Amino acid sequence: MTTLPESLSGKLVTPGDGRYAMLRSTYTTRHSPAGVLLPRTPRQVVDAVRYARERGLPLAVRSGGHGLAGTSSNDGGLVIDLSAVNRVEVLDARSRLVRVEAGARWAAVAETLAPYGLAISSGDHGNVGVGGLATGGGVGWLVRRFGLTIDRVRAVEVVLADGRLIRADAEHEPELFWVVRGAGAGAGIVVAFEIEAEEIRNVGLAQLAVEATPDGATVRQWAEHLAQAPRELSSAAVLFPHGRRTVMQITAVVAAESLRRARPLVEPLLAIGRLLDHRIDLVPYPAMVPTSHLHANVGQQASLTTNGLLTMDGAAARAVTRAAGGPRPALVQLRSVGGAVNDVAPAATAYPHRHQDTLAVGTVFPPQGGSALDAAWRGVAARSDGAYVNFESRPDRAAFDRIYPGETGRRVAELWRRYDPDGVFRSALLGGRRDRAASRSR
Ligand SMILES: Cc1cc2nc3c(=O)[nH]c(=O)nc-3n(C[C@H](O)[C@H](O)[C@H](O)COP(=O)(O)OP(=O)(O)OC[C@H]3O[C@@H](n4cnc5c(N)ncnc54)[C@H](O)[C@@H]3O)c2cc1C
Repeated sequence: MTTLPESLSGKLVTPGDGRYAMLRSTYTTRHSPAGVLLPRTPRQVVDAVRYARERGLPLAVRSGGHGLAGTSSNDGGLVIDLSAVNRVEVLDARSRLVRVEAGARWAAVAETLAPYGLAISSGDHGNVGVGGLATGGGVGWLVRRFGLTIDRVRAVEVVLADGRLIRADAEHEPELFWVVRGAGAGAGIVVAFEIEAEEIRNVGLAQLAVEATPDGATVRQWAEHLAQAPRELSSAAVLFPHGRRTVMQITAVVAAESLRRARPLVEPLLAIGRLLDHRIDLVPYPAMVPTSHLHANVGQQASLTTNGLLTMDGAAARAVTRAAGGPRPALVQLRSVGGAVNDVAPAATAYPHRHQDTLAVGTVFPPQGGSALDAAWRGVAARSDGAYVNFESRPDRAAFDRIYPGETGRRVAELWRRYDPDGVFRSALLGGRRDRAASRSR
């Protein structure tokens, strides 16, 4: 019988414990793990990994629980939940270096940094955890201006499968530093990130709704405007059917401290389709990932999601519009990438997609399943030449090849094997969850 280390006393939550109901599941999936470990410090994470290895049970790692594949919990295994490893600290205000622990939510990061006039481009949701997002990529509200979240990571602290706690940066353990920026899930548990934040207090926030023409012209013009606009402009859009029409709801964010600067960057978007509604405001950056987003994850949002990275030409724009407005539609989200994302060399990190201008994300909800998603997404998939790990619900071998193509995939697989030879964190993307992925797609 394996004994729980003293440091984790009272921090193992099992069925029957009053805390279990709020800790067993993820945002999109419901689970019944044998136990959830709640370490508070990186050292306790080391103890948790050693304990889990001795128990020999399947292990899941959770930061915020928002992962769309539901891999941050399991049935019958152990979960290391990092929600209490959540400190956010400005290490050096002048160089804007910030240390963020993996279990912090992005809402808390934004709130803590705001008094310093600093912000990190993370994602669009305050409840998403630092650990999952910042080991996969991080497509945020200021993505064209500042790049992906991983592009600003300067060092990481990682607990490896053998229980070592290692600090990696460009000079020390550079291979580990490479793989955790894009493919962190299979290498170890990143307990903390040192990130270079940006000096920004407010952003211009425009919200508009237009009717998207079925020939894709509206979507194409959105992407064309983004492709040539100053990098201060980033944008997201949701496409959904409304009666016989398709509505495109656009959020445009300008990294600027005044509406006078923000307005001209946004105004061309008012003309890309029949305008249904619009407004523009100047808001503090934390309003983009607000604390009002914070909630427990109890499997409340069952869904299946996939994605593709593309260069938005006329055919791609038609395919995207059709995916949202066709006979069996998916909910389609578009995110501008490009800009600073594409300044980084493809081989510099484990996120190699540095030439596309748009991330397209498709989602279906029960009772629709994998075959409905695949049918809606076929046209977009044919025009995509890459994918992003953090918007993929079915992490099988085919997804791995789209996310980590060619030489990147070879290197990711080799490094996962090197840092985790026994497959303790056995990443789903190498086929570990094939059975579940297959059953979910039926
Ligand atoms: C509502 C919503 C909005 C989103 N918006 C955005 C967005 O705007 N931009 C964007 O880029 N993404 C976005 N995402 C996707 C998001 O980046 C991923 O879902 C991410 O995995 C969530 O991180 P988490 O820590 O909450 O996930 P978790 O569910 O806790 O973790 C998911 C997986 O990541 C790995 N992991 C987690 N923590 C660690 C760690 N510390 N070290 C190593 N591996 C770890 C594990 O394999 C785990 O199974 C969104 C997701 C949702 C549900």
